[in-house]
Amino acid sequence: MNISQFLVRELISRINLVAEQVDPVSLLQLTRINKTLRNLLTSKRTSKAIWKKHIDRLNLPKLEHEDGRDIDFISFVYDRGCSFCDGDQPDYADWRHRIRWHDQVSNLS
Ligand SMILES: [Zn+2]
Repeated sequence: MNISQFLVRELISRINLVAEQVDPVSLLQLTRINKTLRNLLTSKRTSKAIWKKHIDRLNLPKLEHEDGRDIDFISFVYDRGCSFCDGDQPDYADWRHRIRWHDQVSNLS
Protein backbone atom coordinates (compact mmCIF):
# COMPACT_ATOMS: atom_id res chain seq x y z
CA MET A 1 0.00 0.00 0.00
CA ASN A 2 1.43 3.34 -1.00
CA ILE A 3 0.96 6.59 0.91
CA SER A 4 -1.96 7.75 -1.27
CA GLN A 5 -3.87 4.54 -0.75
CA PHE A 6 -3.16 4.73 2.97
CA LEU A 7 -4.42 8.32 3.19
CA VAL A 8 -7.59 7.56 1.25
CA ARG A 9 -8.26 4.55 3.45
CA GLU A 10 -7.71 6.62 6.60
CA LEU A 11 -9.97 9.38 5.31
CA ILE A 12 -12.77 6.94 4.50
CA SER A 13 -12.37 5.32 7.88
CA ARG A 14 -12.68 8.67 9.66
CA ILE A 15 -15.68 9.73 7.56
CA ASN A 16 -17.39 6.45 8.43
CA LEU A 17 -16.57 7.01 12.11
CA VAL A 18 -18.16 10.48 11.98
CA ALA A 19 -21.15 9.06 10.09
CA GLU A 20 -21.73 6.55 12.88
CA GLN A 21 -21.55 9.18 15.61
CA VAL A 22 -23.68 12.00 14.20
CA ASP A 23 -27.45 12.15 14.51
CA PRO A 24 -29.52 10.80 11.57
CA VAL A 25 -30.43 14.26 10.27
CA SER A 26 -26.76 15.24 10.09
CA LEU A 27 -25.97 11.97 8.36
CA LEU A 28 -28.62 12.69 5.75
CA GLN A 29 -27.15 16.17 5.31
CA LEU A 30 -23.67 14.65 4.83
CA THR A 31 -25.01 12.53 1.97
CA ARG A 32 -26.23 15.71 0.27
CA ILE A 33 -23.01 17.71 0.41
CA ASN A 34 -21.52 16.31 -2.77
CA LYS A 35 -21.49 13.26 -5.01
CA THR A 36 -18.34 11.80 -3.47
CA LEU A 37 -19.75 11.82 0.05
CA ARG A 38 -23.10 10.56 -1.21
CA ASN A 39 -21.47 7.64 -3.02
CA LEU A 40 -19.34 6.81 0.01
CA LEU A 41 -22.16 7.07 2.53
CA THR A 42 -24.78 5.29 0.45
CA SER A 43 -22.69 2.50 -1.02
CA LYS A 44 -23.96 -0.85 0.23
CA ARG A 45 -20.40 -2.13 0.49
CA THR A 46 -19.05 0.72 2.61
CA SER A 47 -22.02 2.09 4.51
CA LYS A 48 -24.57 -0.64 5.21
CA ALA A 49 -23.35 -1.07 8.80
CA ILE A 50 -23.58 2.68 9.44
CA TRP A 51 -27.21 2.94 8.36
CA LYS A 52 -28.06 -0.25 10.24
CA LYS A 53 -26.70 1.29 13.45
CA HIS A 54 -28.89 4.36 12.94
CA ILE A 55 -31.92 2.16 12.24
CA ASP A 56 -31.25 0.10 15.36
CA ARG A 57 -31.08 3.28 17.47
CA LEU A 58 -34.59 4.21 16.31
CA ASN A 59 -35.86 1.09 18.07
CA LEU A 60 -38.70 0.63 15.59
CA PRO A 61 -40.28 -2.63 14.46
CA LYS A 62 -38.03 -4.30 11.87
CA LEU A 63 -40.91 -5.01 9.50
CA GLU A 64 -41.24 -1.29 8.82
CA HIS A 65 -38.02 -1.12 6.84
CA GLU A 66 -36.90 -4.62 5.88
CA ASP A 67 -38.09 -4.31 2.31
CA GLY A 68 -36.09 -1.24 1.37
CA ARG A 69 -32.82 0.61 1.75
CA ASP A 70 -32.01 1.83 5.24
CA ILE A 71 -31.16 5.32 3.95
CA ASP A 72 -34.64 5.61 2.42
CA PHE A 73 -36.20 4.61 5.72
CA ILE A 74 -34.10 7.11 7.71
CA SER A 75 -34.94 9.79 5.16
CA PHE A 76 -38.65 9.01 5.46
CA VAL A 77 -38.51 9.22 9.25
CA TYR A 78 -36.62 12.53 9.40
CA ASP A 79 -37.41 14.34 6.14
CA ARG A 80 -40.91 15.62 6.74
CA GLY A 81 -41.64 17.26 3.39
CA CYS A 82 -44.11 16.22 0.74
CA SER A 83 -42.75 13.57 -1.64
CA PHE A 84 -44.32 15.29 -4.63
CA CYS A 85 -43.98 19.03 -4.17
CA ASP A 86 -41.34 19.35 -1.39
CA GLY A 87 -43.82 21.48 0.55
CA ASP A 88 -44.07 21.35 4.32
CA GLN A 89 -46.59 19.55 6.48
CA PRO A 90 -48.03 16.94 4.14
CA ASP A 91 -51.44 15.59 5.12
CA TYR A 92 -50.75 11.87 4.62
CA ALA A 93 -47.91 9.41 5.10
CA ASP A 94 -47.57 5.92 3.67
CA TRP A 95 -44.91 4.08 5.67
CA ARG A 96 -44.88 1.07 3.40
CA HIS A 97 -44.04 3.07 0.29
CA ARG A 98 -42.21 5.82 2.23
CA ILE A 99 -44.09 8.72 0.70
CA ARG A 100 -45.87 11.76 2.15
CA TRP A 101 -48.30 13.91 0.24
CA HIS A 102 -50.71 16.79 0.46
CA ASP A 103 -54.44 16.51 0.23
CA GLN A 104 -54.47 18.01 -3.27
CA VAL A 105 -52.46 15.07 -4.67
CA SER A 106 -54.86 12.48 -3.26
CA ASN A 107 -57.76 14.34 -4.93
CA LEU A 108 -56.14 13.85 -8.36
CA SER A 109 -56.71 10.09 -8.40
ZN1 LIG B 1 -47.26 18.30 -1.76
